[in-house]
Amino acid sequence: MNDTKATESALQKKTDVTITESHKFRADAPEVRSARPPVDPSELEFRNLRTDEFWRAIPAFADIDEETFLDSVWQMRNSVYGSDKLIETVKDIAPDDWLADAVEGFSQAPMAVRVTPYLLSLIDWSDPYNDPIRTQFIPVASRLTSDHPMLTLDSLNEQKDAPVPGLTHRYHDKALFLPLNTCPVYCRFCTRSYAIGVDTDTVEKVNLKVNPKRWEEAFEYIASRPELEDIVISGGDAFNLAFKHVENIGMRLLDIPHIKRLRFATKGPAVMPMKVLSDEKWFDALSRVVDEGRKRHKQVVVHTHFNNPNEITEITRRAMNRFFERGIIVRNQTVLQRGVNDSEETMKLLVKRLGEVNVHPYYVYQHDMVKGVEDLRTSLRRNLDIEKFVRGATAGFNTPMFIVDAPGGGGKRDAHSYEHYDTDTGISVYTAPSVKPGKFFMYFDPLHSLKEEVVQDWQDEKRREEMVQDALSAALAHVNR
Ligand SMILES: *Cc1c(COP(=O)(O)O)cnc(C)c1O
Ligand code: SF4
Repeated sequence: MNDTKATESALQKKTDVTITESHKFRADAPEVRSARPPVDPSELEFRNLRTDEFWRAIPAFADIDEETFLDSVWQMRNSVYGSDKLIETVKDIAPDDWLADAVEGFSQAPMAVRVTPYLLSLIDWSDPYNDPIRTQFIPVASRLTSDHPMLTLDSLNEQKDAPVPGLTHRYHDKALFLPLNTCPVYCRFCTRSYAIGVDTDTVEKVNLKVNPKRWEEAFEYIASRPELEDIVISGGDAFNLAFKHVENIGMRLLDIPHIKRLRFATKGPAVMPMKVLSDEKWFDALSRVVDEGRKRHKQVVVHTHFNNPNEITEITRRAMNRFFERGIIVRNQTVLQRGVNDSEETMKLLVKRLGEVNVHPYYVYQHDMVKGVEDLRTSLRRNLDIEKFVRGATAGFNTPMFIVDAPGGGGKRDAHSYEHYDTDTGISVYTAPSVKPGKFFMYFDPLHSLKEEVVQDWQDEKRREEMVQDALSAALAHVNR
């Protein structure tokens, strides 16, 4: 076949590369043998972090000096909250057609709007349609696409697996604790849009407010379950917990003898690194919990959420250096999103840049089936292709695992571990033997990734049923192979 020939000659070309003058980095240096050609400077792009005063491009921040911009209190006070305020802030720099589109988009969105000045100024306002940060926070009506017919709110069934409100105990030895329902930003795609943020026109939220009494119920449950050893403190977002609450929750959980690991989950470092640089009380409280854990041989770490390399600037580096200097491990969980990081090169750049600032890339999630954000989802195939490209680009331990959080409460699965995947219908089927044995869990690719005739099939209730049954039968045959 012709293909084989092409591959052979490409390989041949590579091995043909021997030492040339360009390999010498000093004219008088002895020749250095290298098995690899000289690096293309674009390969080192991940080290170029923004150092400019980028926020001055926003009219409202034009006179803000660096010291003020790096102050977390200023960042919080000047966060843009609500769609009117947002439009007002960018109306002179964003294109008119885009502004009208965004106003319409807000009226259809299940999440409230909240963006930090930091993120808002990192958006390229000359081309907001294609900006990866804009895409995550600000809906535009013309890009919205209709929900998949198999999609429900709280697709992960977090509430069903909750023994007390705000505590999800799905896996054997670990639980997810949601002490609050606010975040420094509100992401369009939030999996917990059933609880996070204020009520919107389309969704009334479950109540998970800051409430030490409710927390005590969660602690008592945790204490009563000796198999639990790992607690994820999420939300909402630990960045929005008062420093005293960070310390109280952390210490209370460390006091439970069988708890060995805590993770504070926060999008903070990605959206407001200033807090780490200037909120000494909060940072010290977290450090005390980490240090106390270390004394007791218990691991306390931070899990954060960067999605695009543009979110990582020199300010981020300074913040992450502070974590590193205090010996606090920071891991990252990314959500794979169309127009944000669904290209091989962007994901590789993100992974390398996370390594550059000492953040450990832990997971890349297939986008959950969340209402109203179908435009952000990708097919599972995209996930698999990107994984193939990223693996090998850096150290194995810095290579994230690409996963699907199986809808219906199957938990996180290696994206590759499906029992069946039909790329035509877009149905993938997973099992989770140690979480919910004997059950199948299905994920559905978004309609916009499917062929037109299949999209028609999904509208037809009878065909829908058939496609699902076929997929389940194929999965069953595979399990019993
Ligand atoms: C993600 C998650 C965890 C933690 O899972 P890891 O794979 O260990 O990161 C725990 N509980 C729930 C309900 C979760 O969704
Ligand atoms: S920061 Fe996390 S919990 Fe908060 S809105 Fe964004 S995705 Fe949801």
